[in-house]
Amino acid sequence: MSDLQDRSRRFLWHPCTQMKHLEAWPPLAIAKGEGPWLIDESGKRYLDGISSWWVNLFGHANPRINAAIIDQLGKIEHVMLAGCTHEPVVELSERLAKLTGLGHAFYGSDGASATEIALKMSFHFWRNSGKSEKIHFISLQNGYHGETVGALSVTDVALFKDVYAPLLRQSAQMPSPDFRLAEAGESAEAFALRCAEALETHLQHHADTTAAFILEPLVQGATGMAMYHPVYLAKARELCTQYQVHLIADEIAVGFGRTGTMFACEQANIRPDLMCLSKGISGGYMPLSCVLTTDEIYEAFYGDETASGFLHSHSYTGNPLACRAALAVLDIFEQDDVIAVNRKKAEAFTELMEPLRNHARVQHFRHLGMIWAFDVTDASKGFSRTFAQSVLDQGVLLRPIGRTVYCMPPYVVDIDQMAGMVIAVTNALKGIE
Ligand SMILES: *Cc1c(COP(=O)(O)O)cnc(C)c1O
Repeated sequence: MSDLQDRSRRFLWHPCTQMKHLEAWPPLAIAKGEGPWLIDESGKRYLDGISSWWVNLFGHANPRINAAIIDQLGKIEHVMLAGCTHEPVVELSERLAKLTGLGHAFYGSDGASATEIALKMSFHFWRNSGKSEKIHFISLQNGYHGETVGALSVTDVALFKDVYAPLLRQSAQMPSPDFRLAEAGESAEAFALRCAEALETHLQHHADTTAAFILEPLVQGATGMAMYHPVYLAKARELCTQYQVHLIADEIAVGFGRTGTMFACEQANIRPDLMCLSKGISGGYMPLSCVLTTDEIYEAFYGDETASGFLHSHSYTGNPLACRAALAVLDIFEQDDVIAVNRKKAEAFTELMEPLRNHARVQHFRHLGMIWAFDVTDASKGFSRTFAQSVLDQGVLLRPIGRTVYCMPPYVVDIDQMAGMVIAVTNALKGIE
């Protein structure tokens, strides 16, 4: 263990970590980054195969994003957004409105705070509209929406949730359309439609007391990159409209091109009532999140009474540096035609991974946009950590979720780097149980 690793272990409390495990598995001490590479203290390079927890889009130390932030630093680093405004946050809101058709942007700092904002906003909308009995939320089985108390209430990942159950509000979970759960011979589409029927049954009985249905469009990330057919989104939209329940699209992980379209909802041609964004929004540079919503929701808060407004706030709401990073990200999308370029790249990467799809230990190989995942059929209990260590020794940073190995690289990754990743994964599959 290096000095830095040891100090980190003693003075920090690392996220999502049993700290004792760091005795045997010290944290990777990163000195710098360069494109898709992370470089440790000793100069060893690691391919960032999971985009630093799904946030990085255009590589580390990206010259264009760096320049935008440096330019902004010379102007104003931060100013509160209550009673003040500034160019970066206004321009970002305009551009997000244009991209999503949702014309009102409320900012937070993390994904979980976006979830909190969306839930509170939905509840408060119904209250302002004379429907104060709509106080419950529904979400998908195995869904993930963050880990603050409100967000955890709609999250359904046992490892994160069970201990805190006594603190949480009850919410109902709808069957997940994850196609791995389909019956033998049943298509992903037929299964998604069957799951939508269960959603309808729930709404028939509980719509009167339900404020919103929150889901991760197309990919349930934290449960292990569970993917589902877009027809489920189309159906969910239809049913939420019919039963007067808000549809909250949590695009925190899937937004900004991750699934092959700018936003995952586009693949079902739907517009949610509220959309949560974070992670890729700033290219992985700064904590920034945003909830976008419709005129209808916005207008229900608009009036003379202070208390009928949405009085939620965070100190760093709409931070100018983070907004400038986000604007630079949107510029890169436009200037480099990223969605189209990624489509070509993804095709080549998928071809490269054919041997993994056909590997004897691999099940449910799946791919969408810039996400690839598969399950290891015979993974033992400690699989994810030993697998991660094995690929790390080969210069690739991956973090399997249980027995699911996934790759979610920054968009700047090239075919040779991906080929290196496939070799490392194949080698690890030889040795690791
Ligand atoms: C990561 C994530 C969140 C939480 O975001 P944080 O910034 O980690 O709080 C919420 N929803 C989804 C779908 C996520 O992937």
